[in-house]
This record gives sequence, C-alpha cells and structure tokens, in this order.
Amino acid sequence: MSARRIPCVGGNWKMNTDRATARSLADAISEGVSSPRAETGATIADRVDVIVFPPFPYLETVGDALGQRSILLGAQDVSAEDGGAYTGQVSANMLADLGVQAVLVGHSERRHGLGETDDLLARKTRIALDYGLIVTLCIGETLPERRAQEHLRVLERQLREGLADVEADDLGQIVIAYEPVWAIGTGNTATPADAQAAHAHVRSVLSEIFDAPAAAALRVIYGGSMNPANAAELLRQPDIDGGLIGGASLKPADFLAIAAAAAARPS
Ligand code: PEP
Repeated sequence: MSARRIPCVGGNWKMNTDRATARSLADAISEGVSSPRAETGATIADRVDVIVFPPFPYLETVGDALGQRSILLGAQDVSAEDGGAYTGQVSANMLADLGVQAVLVGHSERRHGLGETDDLLARKTRIALDYGLIVTLCIGETLPERRAQEHLRVLERQLREGLADVEADDLGQIVIAYEPVWAIGTGNTATPADAQAAHAHVRSVLSEIFDAPAAAALRVIYGGSMNPANAAELLRQPDIDGGLIGGASLKPADFLAIAAAAAARPS
C-alpha cells in the first residue's frame, strides 16, 4: 500500500446557506486552511486537498471568496448530458466555465432520494472527467443491505458500474467516498474498524478493476456523521484518506478541526 496519498477533505453544504452565509463560510474556511498552525508551522492546505461543495447558485460567490487560495471549488452534481433541452440541469462544460474544479457524483441523497442509477452515474463521471473536473464518486450501502451482510457486494457493484467508462489514465481525477447511507446525517458513524474494512474492500476491488499500484494511489475517503470528536480515529485507519463532511462542514471550527486531523494523518 502506498503511504503517499495526500488526504482529501470535502465539505458538502447541501441545500444550506444563503449568499451571505456561503461567502462568510468560504472566507472562514479559506482563512483557516491557509494559516500556519502553531504545532507544525505548516498550513492545512500544505498537507490536505480541501474541497467545498456549495449550492449551485452560490458557486460564483464562493469561487470569488476563495480567490487564488488553495481550496478547490466543487459542485454537488453534474448533468450526464453535454447540453441542450435538459431543463434544470447543469453541464460539466458550464461548471468548468465557471471555474469549478470538482464535482460530487452519486451522493446517496441523489441515488436514493432521486433514483439515480449506476448507469447514469457512470455517464456523469465520464463527462465530468472529459471536462477536466475531479470526480468524487460516492458509494455506500443502506441499513437493510448492511444488516443482510450484502454491503461488500453493493460496494463492488457501485464501483464496477460507476467506473465502467473510466480509464487508468483518469484515476488522478477520481476520489472515492465511502458513505454508508445509514450514517449520513444521522449521528451514527461507522466504527473505525468497520469503516477500515469497507475501505480495504473498496481498494481491493479497485485493484481488480485497474491494478494494485493504481488502487494504492487512489484516495478513498469516509463520509457519515464525521465530526471533530471521531475524525482523528477514523483518519488513523490505513485506508481512510480523508472525509466527506455534511453537517459539520457548515461550522467552520468543526470543519477545520476535521481538516487538521487529516493534516496530522500519519503518512
Ligand atoms: C454527506 O452528506 O456526504 C455527509 C457525510 O453528511 P453528514 O456528515 O452530515 O453525515
């Protein structure tokens, strides 16, 4: 296993904030990740790839607030289509044109809330890659699937189908987020051991789809009620390379504490 993966921490703001609070949240996070830390003298941004995913209407405002700082601007979704008669959708081309650098694909609130299929997500992934966007592909089992001990099979299917059109050359632009559906927004976090077991499985499937060096280089991050109290232990697990944070990403101090825990992750 490679020990050289740069941790990645994303803040998924979902359908929260207004224009003013989106800007102030971006300002606070930007300031926090760029300030040298007392313990090390290094900044969080020196050690962690930080991405924020604001709501679509505030992408430009947040992009302006981030300016040239070292935080990536991400969108919470992308259309599988390139353009045309798709009312309400936003294309990868438009996002790239706006200065967006990353997208979430397959968040459980879209898979399960809006019925997005693995096939659709594969198309979203492909088109986002074609426009140079970093794709965080979210996968994760539901509670009934975990109770039935089907979770590893579900993760394998979501990976194989979601990455069906991805080539080895694209992998530098891919991050996998393991987000057990039962842990998202519920306060129920996977235990570090359960999360590590799922991440190790994800990496072993990736090594079958691609190869072992490619799988060892890919970031696999955890999402599901991560907070400042549980982040350090989750991030100590060898296959957990960061976090996708929902609720706690709306509180700058909490998000920065999680990002700092990622920065302190042993390499
Ligand atoms: C998420 O929405 O991706 C997420 C992990 O949410 P929360 O941290 O609130 O569980």
